[in-house]
Amino acid sequence: MTEVRDIAIPDDVDGIFVGGGHNALICAAYLARAGMKVVVCEASDRIGGGTTTDEITLPFFRHNLHAYFVRWTPEYAVWNDLELGRFGVRSIYPPVQNALPFDGGERVLVTYSDLDRSLDEIAKLSRSDAAAYRELHEEFSELTRRVDTPLRFSEPMPPEQLQDLLGRSRLGRRYLELDRRSPLEVVRGAFENEALRSLILFNVSVRGYLPNLDVPGIGSIAALALANSHQGRMVEGGTYEVAKAIASSLLAAGGMILTNARVERVVVDNGRATGVELADGRRIDTSGFVASSAPAPITMLELVGGEHLDSGLRDDLAQYRWLEEALFGVHWALSDRPRLTAEAYNPDAPAALNLALGYETSDDLVAHMRAVNAARNVADGPIHSSIPTIHDPSQAPSGRHTTFGWHFVPGPPTRGGWDSAAVRDRVDAMVRTYRTYAPNIEDATLAITSHSPDATERRVISMRGGDRHHGSFHPDNWQWNRPTAAMPGYRTAIEALYLCGASQHPGGSFHGQPGYNAAGVIAGDHGVEAWWRPVHAAEALAELD
Ligand SMILES: Cc1cc2nc3c(=O)[nH]c(=O)nc-3n(C[C@H](O)[C@H](O)[C@H](O)COP(=O)(O)OP(=O)(O)OC[C@H]3O[C@@H](n4cnc5c(N)ncnc54)[C@H](O)[C@@H]3O)c2cc1C
Repeated sequence: MTEVRDIAIPDDVDGIFVGGGHNALICAAYLARAGMKVVVCEASDRIGGGTTTDEITLPFFRHNLHAYFVRWTPEYAVWNDLELGRFGVRSIYPPVQNALPFDGGERVLVTYSDLDRSLDEIAKLSRSDAAAYRELHEEFSELTRRVDTPLRFSEPMPPEQLQDLLGRSRLGRRYLELDRRSPLEVVRGAFENEALRSLILFNVSVRGYLPNLDVPGIGSIAALALANSHQGRMVEGGTYEVAKAIASSLLAAGGMILTNARVERVVVDNGRATGVELADGRRIDTSGFVASSAPAPITMLELVGGEHLDSGLRDDLAQYRWLEEALFGVHWALSDRPRLTAEAYNPDAPAALNLALGYETSDDLVAHMRAVNAARNVADGPIHSSIPTIHDPSQAPSGRHTTFGWHFVPGPPTRGGWDSAAVRDRVDAMVRTYRTYAPNIEDATLAITSHSPDATERRVISMRGGDRHHGSFHPDNWQWNRPTAAMPGYRTAIEALYLCGASQHPGGSFHGQPGYNAAGVIAGDHGVEAWWRPVHAAEALAELD
């Protein structure tokens, strides 16, 4: 602590960041590389926010407590721009991508990075679904590449402009048509086999959409989930390696990072952000900007203070739509890998990056959605799982393994309620589910640890109640409405104060898009030339056929 206090902070910096999660680090790194003098203030003793890799069970067993499934590849714009390969990141692309056991675990649907192998597996269940899947995979991949990606890598557009631009092309109209429906409607309308329906809806749900599966207005997420479900990756050594590499890229460009530096107040002078006050009494001033990666309502109502906002905005933010669910995590250190009963049917199953255990039909997901929305837990413990050490033996001692399960629980209603009885109930339910599909799980267990939504918040203070996406993905909180139509995008009602975290378009997950987009806006506002090639969604959409 003394060493941290002794670091001399320059008298006047160009920009101050609240929080050192991946979005703030990315935004800071782009601007530092553009020549701006920036300082990142992180409350925790470590950077990275929800990119934690920790030995929480036994020494040398590494567990990814938060983000694990990623899309970081050397082709990804942020990876390329910030030279993450040079700073040590290696991503792993497992050829077996998804496995969903059904018939009580006797059979399993497996899909691969290779489309044809996936279609062979789907055809065993339904030939007509395999034909539909081939067609939709092609169409949805194009939609993702030409519509969804430019939209995510740009400032959100006013709804009228977006509708107008999309309405001019075949692809755009298809996107609009999907979006008018709910993810459930899109998937059930396209496929007949229940295991396949469940697998696609599972890939929608794990992105944060479980509570809104039946809500019209976000159906296009099914296109993204289907196309990207063959693109999943993980990070060698654990996800924290990416945060370290982004931080290294920032430091190499002259940026500064302070840990144990919780921002208590954003200083506002005559309607302009002029600095921050830290919980330990230090103050940092700037004549440039402050950018916060804490969620919008927390930044504006708590760090700035509602007295600086007009009453309409204050009310909007006070009624902010937080994510309706949270993840309850269980992490295992194992002497042997889980042996799935379904391996007799398809031996590739355990090597799937995504393992869906306990969602045998789309009705199982719908039942879980209803329970979460009614603030109830389900009786059993269906889980999103993976066995990281099959792909990356460095994450455990030689010959040993790790696995984990993430299980949906109601979000805001359970905040602060994870006492030992509540934790034990969910751990037991999840172990029961794992045992159903891998009967050796308990015999192979060397140690087991839980990570409740409360534990997530203790670790990452921006994730209130474990809200990993800093807000819901309901259409009321999507695109131009994120965090509120009264203050869309990255600028705020306070001059020189920006938002750059997951509560901003296009929301949470470990993709860095809010941070990337905010960097473009801040650079533009401060007359700094972008050295990277910013994406212009309006131009991309205008070129669609
Ligand atoms: C259990 C779980 C599993 C997940 N799995 C995945 C996954 O597999 N794939 C995926 O893509 N995503 C996953 N996520 C989501 C992903 O981790 C988040 O969406 C992402 O971390 C958000 O990044 P961010 O930088 O916007 O915010 P955060 O990661 O929340 O970082 C914000 C940072 O700001 C700091 N901070 C907040 N307030 C202050 C303050 N006042 N002063 C100083 N510092 C402050 C916090 O300490 C934190 O370090 C998961 C999350 C959880 C919880």
